[in-house]
Amino acid sequence: MKLSQFGARLTGQSGTLQLMDDLGQALASGGDLISLGGGNPGRIPEMEEIFRARLHALAQSADGLDHVAGNYDGPAGDGRFLHALAALLRDRFGWSVGPENIAITNGSQSAFFLLFNMLGGLGTDGVKRQILLPLAPEYIGYADVGVTPDLFRSQRSTIEHLPGRQFKYRVDLDGLAVDDRTAAICVSRPTNPTGNVLTDEEVASLSALAKDNGIPFILDAAYGVPFPGIVFTETTPIWDEHIVLCLSLSKLGLPGLRTGIVIANEEVIRALSSLNAVLCLAPGSIGPGLMLDLVESGQIMDVSERIIRPFYKARSTEAATQLLSGLDGYDVFVHKPEGAMFLWLWCRGLPITNVELYERLKARGVIVVSGNYFFPGLQDDWQHRHECIRITYTQPWEKVTRGLEVIAEEVRRAYDERT
Ligand code: PLP
Repeated sequence: MKLSQFGARLTGQSGTLQLMDDLGQALASGGDLISLGGGNPGRIPEMEEIFRARLHALAQSADGLDHVAGNYDGPAGDGRFLHALAALLRDRFGWSVGPENIAITNGSQSAFFLLFNMLGGLGTDGVKRQILLPLAPEYIGYADVGVTPDLFRSQRSTIEHLPGRQFKYRVDLDGLAVDDRTAAICVSRPTNPTGNVLTDEEVASLSALAKDNGIPFILDAAYGVPFPGIVFTETTPIWDEHIVLCLSLSKLGLPGLRTGIVIANEEVIRALSSLNAVLCLAPGSIGPGLMLDLVESGQIMDVSERIIRPFYKARSTEAATQLLSGLDGYDVFVHKPEGAMFLWLWCRGLPITNVELYERLKARGVIVVSGNYFFPGLQDDWQHRHECIRITYTQPWEKVTRGLEVIAEEVRRAYDERT
């Protein structure tokens, strides 16, 4: 098969593909593999109960499933959902948004594909623009979505050491250069892979930088506020005309329904609707249909705070404690878990690369993600990128603890081989 440049770019080996392949293999293995690699949310019985009840109600009501599944929505998605969400956001946060400020996409991953390629790359004015990722490490899923090469530019974050063998990445605001070749600024908050949550001040500075330069500030809140709210620090939800806030139903517990939600100014939403129409006619309607009641009642935010957040917070604390105690005396640190569903382990001076560590762990039936993939757009070869791995703590707890034991053993072995 002769591939186009587009075909070659998007079908080549990518971290995202490896990650999703590993995830599929773990599922197919029927439970032999310990899958601490993917971004699958944890199974929370109270949430599953809510989803089942909603699905049942939808199936039973005369106008429910037939309306939701039997029609194409408009290209921005289910109008009832857009109205309900806009009302909720106005009510709770006073944001000046209407249904014209919201579009649904088939997962937020496809929203990023559309947004990045719509803004970055070769402009109609002949200028080549890039998406600026101010905080590396950053989400692996951005790395491969560019249909043109070099779509991203990122910069190293600075490292702040914290007590208890933890650390936190900070945005190097002084080093950030924005010019007419910057298409947009984008950050995930909480950050995948690190569990970092940018402070309100950092977010305000990035937002102001984007606004002053007349470019969008894309805030990826797939794990964040207002829902699913997997954030363990104080954070204020934020939106403005230049902010493109990307949400998702995935980490709420519904990744299979592929529902992304973009809240932005009307110009961005109209453009996304056009792209949706070309690519898929209309986004899927089951996710919005299933969650409509919870959005109308505001319950979506209440369950995020009451059920989802405590589940992940407890997990993150236990997992970090276990991992660090298994590595006592070694030169390893965990990023302060402030949100999302990952531990980001930094093995300083590790004698093998993180890719080798990933392979060793895989050979023992434990899947993690090698950290080197999480630096999209970073030009310089930072040794740090070969020293970190990402560990997801959402699987059944016995598996997580067993996986953490194996990880600690293999990391110790890698250091001990040198001595
Ligand atoms: N953004 C971040 C930071 C993520 O971690 C993910 C998935 O893991 C996504 C976006 C995409 O999620 P989805 O396409 O399921 O909405």
